[in-house]
Amino acid sequence: MTFEYTDYEPYDFANRRHIGPSPAEMEAMLKVVGADSLDAFINSTVPASIRQKAPLEWGPAMTERQALDALRETADMNRNLVSLIGQGYHGTITPPVIQRNILENPAWYTAYTPYQPEISQGRLEALLNFQTMIADLTGLDVASASLLDEATAAAEAMAMAHRVAKAKRDVFFVDENCHPQTIAVIRTRAEPLGWSVVVGDPFADLDATAVFGAIVQYPGTYGHVRDFGDVIAALHRTDAIAIMAADPLSLALLRTPGEMGADIAIGSAQRLGVPMGYGGPHAAFMAVKDAHKRAMPGRLVGVSVDSRGNRAYRLALQTREQHIRREKATSNICTAQVLLAVMAAMYGVFHGPSGIKAIAQRVHQRAVLLTAGLEKLGYKVEPDAFFDTVTVEVGRLQRVILDAAVAGGVNLRQIGNDRIGISVDERTRPGNIETVWRAFGGDMTVDEFPLTYRLPEKLLRNTAYMTHPVFHMNRAESEMTRYMRRLSDRDLALDRSMIPLGSCTMKLNATAEMLPITWPEFAELHPFVPADQALGYKALIDDLCAKLCQITGFDAVSMQPNSGAQGEYAGLLTIRAYHRENGGAERDVCLIPTSAHGTNPASAQMAGMKVVPVRTAENGDIDVGDFRAKAEQHGERLAACMITYPSTHGVFERRVAELCDIVHAHGGQVYLDGANMNALVGLARPGDFGADVCHLNLHKTFCIPHGGGGPGMGPIGVKAHLVPHLPGHPATGGEAGPVSAAPYGSPSILPISWSYCLMMGGAGLTQATKVAILNANYIARRLRDAYPVLYAAENGRVAHECILDTRILQEKAGVSVDDIAKRLIDCGFHAPTMSFPVPGTLMIEPTESETKAELDRFCDAMLAIREEARAIEEGRSDRLDNPLKNAPHTVEDLVGEWNRSYSREQACFPPGAFRVDKYWAPVNRVDNVYGDRNLVCSCPPMEDYQEAAE
Ligand SMILES: *Cc1c(COP(=O)(O)O)cnc(C)c1O
Repeated sequence: MTFEYTDYEPYDFANRRHIGPSPAEMEAMLKVVGADSLDAFINSTVPASIRQKAPLEWGPAMTERQALDALRETADMNRNLVSLIGQGYHGTITPPVIQRNILENPAWYTAYTPYQPEISQGRLEALLNFQTMIADLTGLDVASASLLDEATAAAEAMAMAHRVAKAKRDVFFVDENCHPQTIAVIRTRAEPLGWSVVVGDPFADLDATAVFGAIVQYPGTYGHVRDFGDVIAALHRTDAIAIMAADPLSLALLRTPGEMGADIAIGSAQRLGVPMGYGGPHAAFMAVKDAHKRAMPGRLVGVSVDSRGNRAYRLALQTREQHIRREKATSNICTAQVLLAVMAAMYGVFHGPSGIKAIAQRVHQRAVLLTAGLEKLGYKVEPDAFFDTVTVEVGRLQRVILDAAVAGGVNLRQIGNDRIGISVDERTRPGNIETVWRAFGGDMTVDEFPLTYRLPEKLLRNTAYMTHPVFHMNRAESEMTRYMRRLSDRDLALDRSMIPLGSCTMKLNATAEMLPITWPEFAELHPFVPADQALGYKALIDDLCAKLCQITGFDAVSMQPNSGAQGEYAGLLTIRAYHRENGGAERDVCLIPTSAHGTNPASAQMAGMKVVPVRTAENGDIDVGDFRAKAEQHGERLAACMITYPSTHGVFERRVAELCDIVHAHGGQVYLDGANMNALVGLARPGDFGADVCHLNLHKTFCIPHGGGGPGMGPIGVKAHLVPHLPGHPATGGEAGPVSAAPYGSPSILPISWSYCLMMGGAGLTQATKVAILNANYIARRLRDAYPVLYAAENGRVAHECILDTRILQEKAGVSVDDIAKRLIDCGFHAPTMSFPVPGTLMIEPTESETKAELDRFCDAMLAIREEARAIEEGRSDRLDNPLKNAPHTVEDLVGEWNRSYSREQACFPPGAFRVDKYWAPVNRVDNVYGDRNLVCSCPPMEDYQEAAE
């Protein structure tokens, strides 16, 4: 026998792990699209005029082990101390059963936003649990399914107050006891809208006749727990709106915002089992009185029924409202914090109300101990009554004490130059308290102190919460594990099949990229630790920013925005600040093509700009004539244009540089929506072809999973002239105000994007782009005889996605785009993007991660659907009684009477569907109208489940 070494490289990540098609498959696909080689294909697809000159280069691609070693080295540069800093971020214990089965489980983290309710029942139920828990804890009627962070939730609440308040005024009052980052984000948000912000003591400084609303914090950032009943009553007497920022854990023990009369409560659900992560991601919440539920920003899960009358969940009301209401949308929130809201909800399910109460009591007990000790040492501690946070007057000893605490392994909060703040939490151990005492100069043990409580007597909670049976399961872990498994089994995520959503880039989220996010050195850092404890984060963020600069052709990147839409908003604010500084304060017009994503006009409105729509030409490109005319018309008032490239129509427009030139000639700035960066990385750089600023969706192009609708990261890259105007932050400095609560948005998910860059290398990223474009063209080629490809370049090529015109099926067979989407569920697929950017069409984006076999399975399913429609057209199938109209089919369709005109076999096992691994939707088609008419947004009572099952 002869022995030969093979040249197979098992860890050649770039080509064989991340990229779906094998070399042989790629060859076959190139034949189908009619190209000799991948490079020839790309040359005929991406315009030469925009191609970048130099290849991406940062050394060879790393293997998984090498990348994990680099991540480990970087993590070790962070110092993970005990942080008792508080200020909106607290240590918490993620129950391992939740860490493993939710956070580390692709069935949860690779799911998409639940727009298709039939394949999202699991996460919709989890979000409904979140809403129920938050509504109960805050004592309000309706809670939504998550916002980005506490500070932006406060800003959203202010904007909502302005919309709903009967008082038509333009002043907003902010409690000086709000967290500093909350105050700063509110200021950022108010300024371009022309509202003034007054910060002060609500009991002394609030003139209720002058404001449209006010926000107070409970407990305050320095620990005070106050009764705001009178303040709120005063606001209501003048038709103003009362908002309370509240700590959900404290509400287990304290009277609720609802009982005090608040109209809106907001806060962070971080300490309900979600690690601090150096600032994020975590779920913020908002709860409101029933009267205001239709004005809430973000997403709301509601209860409806399916076509059999069975209970089914769905997103209610404002689903995709940005796409309809555009600049009049209630907010620009698109990606939110679903995965983190699910974790917090599961924390509630896991502990139940008794467990949550016990945790809150234990936290309070430790705060009492800590305070008793400090008082014994002779310090003046404020306030008298508190939940978990106190402030100590230390005068000139401040630095000494803070340093001594750090030396003992504990971070405390520096307040001004003479006070120290301390917040204890679920993780605080007796030893930590003794360490704090030692830092203050006392050698005592916790056993020396009697147990008392120091909550304000009058504000003790005496109402029940979390009474729903879901929060009262048997506490055995077997039950918990199976509950989470049952819910995830109801959903279709990337771990089952491709999710060909145009514009959303549902690519592989490699396991090796995911591992580091739960390492304590990344997961457990407080966002406001001293800089020398976060050197690993600094190195990672600096290097990732440098790579993103190289990829985009920009000079600097801000990591603050924690979603694409927040990136748009931050980018437009940057442009606005630039104009103001350069004598262009009157520039407030923003040109936006009608085909733009709905977040574009919504963000422009938030940034105080006037949206001027630009027409689309016959071929789907931006109408350059109209663009030029609008730019000229608004001349001196032109602030910016927002364009997406390649266009939302999935085409590389040849004249993009010309559009940029037109805007620049009139003194405007070019904002590029970078959601389609997956078509550009390594091939073309927005900074080279004329953009001044651009956001990147790291949760699209750079492998952060969608988490069922969040988290995300939307950093912005800018040209040098805009750098001074990037978002600043009270904790890190900078001229401009912050757009997020934390300086780097949601930094604990950045290791995902960084390891992706390391493991792909520049060449691998470029190859990924090429294959993404190949995959899209392959699908377009295979399907174009059945469904016209709506837009393509002159040579028939599309970019990394394509729009299929399904409107002919409506005309000929009465088959709607909805019918096709639901039938795809029977085939085992998530529908492509529906009706964006063109109503009645499907936009397909396969990404580079899908194999030819999976693309073929999808194409076969789409072709079979076309044949089913043809049967209707030709009268061989009934117009109403057919598998398309009745899709999706469930196991209920396998049993009982069957009097349809087609077989059960055809109903349940169309091409694409697996026989053994068949995905069964848990509900038949969901009735949207019923759900909005009968709006129920918390868990229905248990007897209803019974009813629904009958
Ligand atoms: C996804 C997307 C956005 C918004 O990003 P979020 O992170 O969801 O806020 C904006 N524009 C386009 C074209 C997109 O596809």
